[in-house]
Amino acid sequence: MTTFSTDAKTESNTPLYLANSASSPNVSYHYNPTISQYHYGPHHPMKPFRLMLTDHLVISYKLYEKMDLFTPRSATKEELLEFHSEDYIDFLQKVTPEMTAKLSDQKLAQFNIGDDCPVFDGIYDYSSKYAGASLDASRKLISGMSDIAINWSGGLHHAKKFEPSGFCYVNDIVLSILNLLRVHPRVMYIDIDLHHGDGVQEAFYTTDRVMTVSFHKFNGEFFPGTGSVDEVGIGKGKNYAINVPLKDGIDDDSYIRLFKSIMEPLITKFQPTCIVQQCGADSLGYDRLGCFNLNIRAHGECVKFIRSFGLPMLVLGGGGYTPRNVSRLWCYETSVLNDVTLDHKIPNYLPTYDWFGPDYSLHPQLEGRIDNKNSKKYLESVKHEVLEQLRYLNYAPSVQMSEIPPDLTGLTEEEEDIIKELNEETTEEKYMKRVKDEARVGEMVE
Ligand SMILES: [Zn+2]
Repeated sequence: MTTFSTDAKTESNTPLYLANSASSPNVSYHYNPTISQYHYGPHHPMKPFRLMLTDHLVISYKLYEKMDLFTPRSATKEELLEFHSEDYIDFLQKVTPEMTAKLSDQKLAQFNIGDDCPVFDGIYDYSSKYAGASLDASRKLISGMSDIAINWSGGLHHAKKFEPSGFCYVNDIVLSILNLLRVHPRVMYIDIDLHHGDGVQEAFYTTDRVMTVSFHKFNGEFFPGTGSVDEVGIGKGKNYAINVPLKDGIDDDSYIRLFKSIMEPLITKFQPTCIVQQCGADSLGYDRLGCFNLNIRAHGECVKFIRSFGLPMLVLGGGGYTPRNVSRLWCYETSVLNDVTLDHKIPNYLPTYDWFGPDYSLHPQLEGRIDNKNSKKYLESVKHEVLEQLRYLNYAPSVQMSEIPPDLTGLTEEEEDIIKELNEETTEEKYMKRVKDEARVGEMVE
């Protein structure tokens, strides 16, 4: 499904990518191809097949040569319960489209089931697959096997503890940050989706160990309605939630300038030991649900900038509702993270080549559809407010890592049992084996 071969002539004539430097970081790519086959419904804007388009592009540019590829297992129910309530996960596990028709309005409202978050076939498997991929990626970072770990099927930042929200059922970001906190004293979460990263902010609103930073469209009404600059965290978490509210039509230059001028001092002050970046693609121009003017290069520049700090990075997908541009973006960002430059012409042997016409370019022009409502003055005032908030952060919190991290191998209980059985020998077996070995030594000496 995701493998295809090229003819010899194409192979020899196409330099698909050029390395930018001699040494590159260890990058891992976590993707279960079956996840692209789920459907939210014919009219729903979230199309999991955008992940197949992305994977095809990544493969056709041969980026697999640069990375460690993993097909992760699904998250277990126990893993999902690290953040979500048992009631909700039980519901997700049992519910089917047929059952939904018979459920009371009260039940549907309790679990926020409706047009945005419908019940579809395989809803639980889908959710546990993308969460499993983010957890797998976080484990590779923790073990030091990867410097950068990518899961484009993750980044579903709206999901809440008790319910789904905004096309997101389980919050893979919260789950993987919880995992990273077992060994990392400070994790920074950066969200460049068009929408506010409300689910992640809410989960870590009272702690100083996770700084959440979200750049998003905000006017008080636009989904999810939160994300004003005044939302700063509470208790110990006060000032560790950062919000950068933007208006329609922001362009490449102003976005990049604002992003860098805010992120650099935040990283310097907070001193994260690990960064999680959500790369929602709905902040691109011409997105089906979007209202910004960003080009692929500008979005990627934000990823490149964060990469330049050289910290362990978990890189996730998110929103993005014009599938051909979502896949272009995430393929491009995969190249950025691997520090290689891609030919802008999309390889013509790509099985899904037709999707990328008429330009067949990795970088179509995406700006100019929406008027830029962000005046220089407005952007200056937002930057000023955020940097003021930063003044209250006098230190990077240190934590006593008292808890020994449990199970970082990511094995399920069954897998562990099998391994235990393989390793476990009874005392008698061990004794008999030693006796036999000694006997053999004796034979050889004689
Ligand atoms: Zn979004």
